[in-house]
Amino acid sequence: MKISFLDLKASCLEIRQELDEAYRKFLESGWYILGQELEAFEAEFASYCNVQHCIGVGNGLDALYLILKAMDIGLGDEVIVPANTYIATWLAISHAGATPVPVEPNEKTYNIEPKNIETAITSKTKAILAVHLYGQPADMDSINEIATRYELKVIEDAAQAHGALYKGRKVGSLGDAAGFSFYPTKNLGALGDGGAVTTNDGELADKINLLRNYGSRVKYLNEIKGFNSRLDELQAAFLRVKLTRLDEWNARRAWVANQYLEKLSSVTDLTLPFVPAWAEPVWHLFVVRHSKRSDFQKQLKDSGIGTLIHYPVPPHLCDAYIEEQHLGSFPITEQMAKNVLSLPISPHMTSEEVMRVIRESNVSLMKDTTTTLKTSSLSYN
Ligand SMILES: *Cc1c(COP(=O)(O)O)cnc(C)c1O
Repeated sequence: MKISFLDLKASCLEIRQELDEAYRKFLESGWYILGQELEAFEAEFASYCNVQHCIGVGNGLDALYLILKAMDIGLGDEVIVPANTYIATWLAISHAGATPVPVEPNEKTYNIEPKNIETAITSKTKAILAVHLYGQPADMDSINEIATRYELKVIEDAAQAHGALYKGRKVGSLGDAAGFSFYPTKNLGALGDGGAVTTNDGELADKINLLRNYGSRVKYLNEIKGFNSRLDELQAAFLRVKLTRLDEWNARRAWVANQYLEKLSSVTDLTLPFVPAWAEPVWHLFVVRHSKRSDFQKQLKDSGIGTLIHYPVPPHLCDAYIEEQHLGSFPITEQMAKNVLSLPISPHMTSEEVMRVIRESNVSLMKDTTTTLKTSSLSYN
């Protein structure tokens, strides 16, 4: 029995009838871009995130990019960003014309360390782009406190954290604006690309509304030089169905995570995720660290268990950024790239599958100990 890292089809099959029905309604509507489904989804997702505005856009990268454009952040400006994130967070800043200024994470939570933010602030800094990495909220009160003192904007990259809570408050409502992705693998995933911006700032929402649709409010009247980045009616229709399952599916992820946290706690060489008291993560990923990662990963692979690495190359070491020498070195981030491993987690894993991952992870260690013993006895001869 194979356990894949993620079975995307399983989530669709569970709600197949509703998706079929959404498609039928969409097809018969005769209206495929910027219509009723999108309007309804935007209202529902805004309400879910406890914010006043939601604007559907083409994808998560565009969501972050359009926020920066709407804030007039560009050439000559600096934006503080985690060193350890998916490269899209950085690309949004680069494409806006601004400079990403990376900051090391907290070694326990893997989220941006507020203490490191302050030392990275210069006269050019305009914003802090915090990421709720792996589905766990960043320390937003500390980040907002620094931002207020230095008059900076706060943007959330909530692409991995739909529904996560920080001190009881929903991510997406914790800064000036937030970018979400509905890429199929995310906790709230479309059946294609999709994204959204959430904000309580009416002016910013208005600007993003213009920017995503050629700078136009009224057809053929173009107020500003806009883009084309809209969330399709079809994806909005599917997302409306999936949004009704988000809390239940996040709870199922939490069940898997709690099993892992409980039953993998005595595996040596393994570091489990740390959850601060104020965080209610949504477990987009379950990321462990292992001092012999490739052995551990191979052991799981040999027993049919798929794992992935998030992320093997930090943005500052990617070819895309390699020429930007000023970025410097980031030892915590670089160490993470060497030893993080994501175990399978999803709302659609069966309890047998979860137990098997747990069993094989423990077996892996026992085999490991035997080899270590053998080698050491050899070396005594
Ligand atoms: C997925 C992701 C994005 C980008 O979203 P897309 O919809 O793929 O453009 C941005 N930031 C983070 C942290 C992500 O995980």
